[in-house]
Amino acid sequence: MQYDAIILGGGAAGLFCAAIAGQRGANVLVLEAAEKVGKKILISGGGRCNFTNLGAGPANYLSANPHFAKSALSRYKPRDFIALVEKHDIAWHEKTLGQLFCDGSARQIVDMLLEECATGPGTVTIRCNEEVSGIGHDNGQFTVTTQYDHFTAPALVIATGGPSIPKMGASDFAYRLARQFGLKVVEPRPALVPLTLGGEEVLFRELSGVSAEVEATASKTTFREAALFTHKGLSGPAILQASSYWRHGEPVNIRFLPDAPQGWLTDVKRAEPSLHLRTILARHLPDRLAAVLADQLGISGDLGNVPDKALRAAEERLRSWRFHPNGSEGFAKAEVTAGGISTAELSSQTMEAKNVPGLYAIGEAVDVTGWLGGYNFQWAWASGFACGEALGARSKGLEF
Ligand SMILES: Cc1cc2nc3c(=O)[nH]c(=O)nc-3n(C[C@H](O)[C@H](O)[C@H](O)COP(=O)(O)OP(=O)(O)OC[C@H]3O[C@@H](n4cnc5c(N)ncnc54)[C@H](O)[C@@H]3O)c2cc1C
Repeated sequence: MQYDAIILGGGAAGLFCAAIAGQRGANVLVLEAAEKVGKKILISGGGRCNFTNLGAGPANYLSANPHFAKSALSRYKPRDFIALVEKHDIAWHEKTLGQLFCDGSARQIVDMLLEECATGPGTVTIRCNEEVSGIGHDNGQFTVTTQYDHFTAPALVIATGGPSIPKMGASDFAYRLARQFGLKVVEPRPALVPLTLGGEEVLFRELSGVSAEVEATASKTTFREAALFTHKGLSGPAILQASSYWRHGEPVNIRFLPDAPQGWLTDVKRAEPSLHLRTILARHLPDRLAAVLADQLGISGDLGNVPDKALRAAEERLRSWRFHPNGSEGFAKAEVTAGGISTAELSSQTMEAKNVPGLYAIGEAVDVTGWLGGYNFQWAWASGFACGEALGARSKGLEF
């Protein structure tokens, strides 16, 4: 069969791109290394797939060029994906902060994508267990070699994701391929990942399992959500979000009790002078955390005996508690990879490489990384849509 395009990777971006290209008349082949498509979709959102976020916009993404994602995100919005989900009678709910999940199972999203791939008029052929071992490019044709076969097409889409969670088969294949074609790659790093604590801060590991609502700030970007202490350091949504902005050597600032007004500790001292700091903190924080914080602040005994100056200093410390992570739990635990194929190499309209006609890159492989909460899938859909439309136009010989 003569294909108009070969899509490498049957994940979120690759499947959606294939469906859109097929609906626009292109005949496409999806090559997937794993035994089945959409494996990350299936485990996403605790098995319920947080498939988009109502508020998704360019400000929710990290990239060396923060403007790059604007075009694709504005042409395929969360409401477009919601309409698709509803067309397929998939019940959904908003959990928190605009995050939309299936009521049932993430399987429904994979099934929906497969049904969309089958609607035509173009054909979408999906072949699993096809590990791509080499790519040739000659006379405007891309030749893809897998362990079983060779396939040829005038267009090739890199949709093989990033290296996060290697035990699921994730790898740096996209970057190796991009480099083969002379495309620059922004250094990949684990994102949405737990951070590890060492040195004097190991004592916080004793709090493993304790969580509290905080504001976490890294590189001037602040998230208000829950932080969780783990046996290795820090996790929970607030920390995962901050981790994407965190760089080695920098602190992460935690604001405990984010709603406490200025001067609250001295007010408590006047009202209840016989209370101990640990008891007051435990009114708002888990007991074990309150004990460690009070101990670290070095304030014991009746508050009435503690000078106001010391209480103001304690308040300040609680407002801006500096943790110094010594690393992260790495790609093994990272929900996504930040960095990737440089957006400077790609058209923001079509995702086509500017210097390699017919070569496209979409999804997590590209240097566009979303926050936690459905943003990464929205980028997979939006970039897949932009590329799928371009492949459709291309198959008809039209400029896009
Ligand atoms: C545990 C977990 C939970 C997540 N939950 C959410 C969530 O709820 N909401 C959200 O927005 N995001 C979530 N994410 C992130 C989201 O899964 C990714 O951002 C998204 O899957 C990226 O889509 P993609 O198509 O670019 O890559 P992927 O979905 O990773 O797909 C890439 C595909 O390419 C295949 N492949 C790789 N190399 C080759 C090769 N050499 N030859 C052929 N095929 C190859 C892979 O097997 C894979 O199927 C989660 C991630 C993880 C790890």
